[in-house]
Amino acid sequence: MALLVVGSVAFDDITTPQGRAPRVLGGSGTYFALAASFFTPVRLVAVVGDDFTAEDEAVLTDRGVDTRGLEHAFGKSFFWAGEYEADPNLRHTLKTELNVFENFDPKLPAEYHDSEVLFLGNIAPELQSQVRDQLGARAKLVGGDTMNYWITGRPDAVRHFLSRLHVLSINDSEAHLLTGESNLYRAARAILAQGPAAVIIKRGEHGVTLYSASQTFGVPAYPLEDVIDPTGAGDAFAGGVFGYLAQQNRWDDAALRRAVVYGSVMGSFTCERFGVERLRSLNEGEIAARYREFVALTRFDE
Ligand code: AMP
Repeated sequence: MALLVVGSVAFDDITTPQGRAPRVLGGSGTYFALAASFFTPVRLVAVVGDDFTAEDEAVLTDRGVDTRGLEHAFGKSFFWAGEYEADPNLRHTLKTELNVFENFDPKLPAEYHDSEVLFLGNIAPELQSQVRDQLGARAKLVGGDTMNYWITGRPDAVRHFLSRLHVLSINDSEAHLLTGESNLYRAARAILAQGPAAVIIKRGEHGVTLYSASQTFGVPAYPLEDVIDPTGAGDAFAGGVFGYLAQQNRWDDAALRRAVVYGSVMGSFTCERFGVERLRSLNEGEIAARYREFVALTRFDE
């Protein structure tokens, strides 16, 4: 089943305790699309500037990502700079330059109109809702993500976007910010009350928890000794989750559990190198092997 994602395609300047990558390809849409491409055909809707080269686009098309929905506009691509503390969960945004995203008016190519699974990656909530509107009832499963930048800056638009989602994937700090609840379980309940049927709360190196009316399910993070660069781990996580659900064409409780594990697999690989490097060198065998490690990591007797 084809999976449509709208998100940012960006250049990032990343500093971690392990070093610095001053200008690398990034963006929520990029990480998501690359991760999901291991599971299902992916269609990308985003905008880039004239600094985005054919070589940059090849990173996506080499993995089979359909970039017919990638608009090339005049101006500079979205730019984001961030720095991590020794605790990789602690990240500081140094710069967010929306650039071509400021005037982006997403339009789905006609070939994308039969997409049944949609992921509204982290961009302005108004743009997320605009893409949602264009697919209408054709979208059988709609997932989404957001971040503090939008929750604080555009709270009403974020609430509207939330009311139209089936599954929200969000960080713990953002879940607190969104609901005003310091207890994660209460925060999850408050989010479910606003529309989504399920919410997945990501806690970085502490793993993720899935909440819905019918189940609560937790997965630890993969025990990585060296986290080189956590950027994009959340987006790659979502790419794994929705890529798997689209591949299976089902999203019952059991499928959602396995999806959350595939998401954790993809997020953990992303942290092993700067930028999208690890996702580019990854193969299906490595994904399957790490999935089995997760099974071993979480299995216990009754
Ligand atoms: P993550 O580490 O999963 O939160 O994703 C990091 C990616 O999100 C980076 O590659 C950034 O380019 C992108 N990003 C950061 N801030 C924003 C924003 N406000 N809107 C859209 N994308 C963003």
